[in-house]
Amino acid sequence: SIINPVERPEITQQLSENIILTTVDDIYNWVKMSSLYPLMFGTACCFMEFMAAYASRFDLERYGMIPRATPRQADLLITAGTISMKYAPNLVRLYEQMPEPKYVIAMGACTITGGMFSVDSPSAVRGVDKLIPVDVYIPGCPPRPEAVIDAIIKLRKKIANESIQERHISQQTHRYYSINHR
Ligand code: SF4
Repeated sequence: SIINPVERPEITQQLSENIILTTVDDIYNWVKMSSLYPLMFGTACCFMEFMAAYASRFDLERYGMIPRATPRQADLLITAGTISMKYAPNLVRLYEQMPEPKYVIAMGACTITGGMFSVDSPSAVRGVDKLIPVDVYIPGCPPRPEAVIDAIIKLRKKIANESIQERHISQQTHRYYSINHR
């Protein structure tokens, strides 16, 4: 028989205490942002600060971030250091080997603009976002571990507001760009 909550107020009370209403997007996003696995990746001095962020004083693992040694097990790429023209195809290849959904944080002046190498060196890429899509930028030379943690918090906020459908469409667009503009 159908229970009428008006006649049985204790049922309404029990429902409100024991049932959580949410969306698939919210659960999916919560899982994603609580277990970001960054690739152990660094090309220059910024990587020293990235490693320091894992040391006991800052303890990046408290955000559920377990570093991975292979792109196939990573969903976060932190480009810590200068990206040279020669290395650029390898970076794109690493990115493409990472499973979806995946994210990128550009760490430091060199990776964001070419940094000091942008003045007269022809060998530095002037912006890693010309190669792969970047979600969060960390300015500085080098950025401190606190700045890395701040970027992780910003990325988590971004993930929390994502929709599965929209993220899928943007990744499809990138794949098209990546294949056709090398
Ligand atoms: Fe090194 Fe500064 Fe470039 Fe980072 S931004 S890789 S610390 S020169």
